[in-house]
Amino acid sequence: MITMKFGGTSVGTADSIRQVCRLIKTELERRPIVIVSAHNSPSLRMTDTLVASAKAARDGRPDSRRVRDAQLRLCGELGMDTAAAGIDFLLEQIDKLFSGIAMIGELTARTMDVVMSFGERMSARVINDVLSREFGVNSIYRSSVSLGLRTDANFGSARPDPSCYPAVAKQIADLEYETLVTTGFIASTADGKITTLGRGGSDYSATIFGAIVGAEEVQIWTDVSGVMTADPRLVPEARSIPELTFMEASELAWYGAKVLHPATMIPAIENDIPVLVKNTTAPEHPGTVIRRHIVKEEGAPPVKSLAVMKGVVMVTITTGRMFGAHGFMSKVFDVFNRHAVSVHMIATSEVTISVTTQDSENVESAAAAIRDFADVRVERGFSLISVVGEMMQGTPGVAARVTRAMAENRVNIHMISQGASEINIALVVEDPQMKPAVTGLHREFFGISA
Ligand code: ADP
Ligand code: ASP
Ligand code: MG
Repeated sequence: MITMKFGGTSVGTADSIRQVCRLIKTELERRPIVIVSAHNSPSLRMTDTLVASAKAARDGRPDSRRVRDAQLRLCGELGMDTAAAGIDFLLEQIDKLFSGIAMIGELTARTMDVVMSFGERMSARVINDVLSREFGVNSIYRSSVSLGLRTDANFGSARPDPSCYPAVAKQIADLEYETLVTTGFIASTADGKITTLGRGGSDYSATIFGAIVGAEEVQIWTDVSGVMTADPRLVPEARSIPELTFMEASELAWYGAKVLHPATMIPAIENDIPVLVKNTTAPEHPGTVIRRHIVKEEGAPPVKSLAVMKGVVMVTITTGRMFGAHGFMSKVFDVFNRHAVSVHMIATSEVTISVTTQDSENVESAAAAIRDFADVRVERGFSLISVVGEMMQGTPGVAARVTRAMAENRVNIHMISQGASEINIALVVEDPQMKPAVTGLHREFFGISA
């Protein structure tokens, strides 16, 4: 068994949906579970449109036309009977939901998850319809909610509850199909309230379902030929990486490589399932294989890839009393914990602690709480760049090459740290210096030629 996840751009147009169906058809012998994201093309950014329309509804302007028109246009191009495929029903529900939001004038995280869930619920029905009607595949659709995928109640960024896995596996095993099409990104709480796994969460759904059914492989189909040496939108000369270890991919995902949702690797690691990242528009390209161990070739470059996280805040805490004072650190981190601020990087001296975190409203409330016992400075406008590769371990001089590349490109490093795992060197730079920093690092470790 395998799982095949198709990202939003892979199911964004009628042509790409037909391409996806062709790819699925070549894998029928491996009984694929197909995991689908909401449509995402320049004319139909479904999740973004649902979010924007829900906010407009909250502000007193309920209008489902953008969602409806774009969805029906795509279905029309695919020759679908939208009533029979269940699309019309979902569009009516969206319309009612927006009216309800407008009436109450409130949009909670819980309601937002219901709103966003319609994107995946519509696209999965579309793929299932085209697979069976046009491609003659014995395909069935079940939403991940109806299959019983349960999460905690952390709306907007829920985490799966593995105790539901045996029951989900049993449900799937009892079904008769050549392919089972299901929704990425969404699930529900034990009492049936819809949740989402965080933006980009369909990658995570792919490995969760992989773990549930004991898949031999998880395939993640996207719009680039695998995981690359950097985001190709940022560094045009970025190249595809043939192989990554679980730890390398995990580090890249947590530190901002958008091609994989941060939590994607967790179920793959726990169940030792290889993950293949492939390009829907160039299926002949081998893409990237991610697995536990890879053959480490003599002379292989120590650095595999660069990741960038934008919108980073630096919080600097100063106290004259830290010297010798027990428990100061734990007091600070207790505040971060209570305010749900997760810290990526820490640097300390006797009198200051500097940490970086993703910008959010909580940063201000945490800073206010720390001001009760220390001085706090909050500075915005930073990017965190990660240099990742397992071979850095035991390769001397990588950090020196990083700092030299920064000096040569006149980039000022605000913080730098080498992770305890020694597979990551992270540096914080000001936003306007992020591009020259990444370009300089890419040239240093990967050269210029494609
Ligand atoms: P999907 O809709 O398939 O989930 P995403 O837009 O979420 O696709 O992720 C693919 C995008 O991730 C690429 O188009 C690319 O711009 C970006 N990206 C960022 N870092 C990397 C990287 N290291 N390798 C490949 N792509 C990356
Ligand atoms: N449709 C969701 C999003 O746009 C999930 C995903 O694409 O993976 O965030
Ligand atoms: Mg994605």
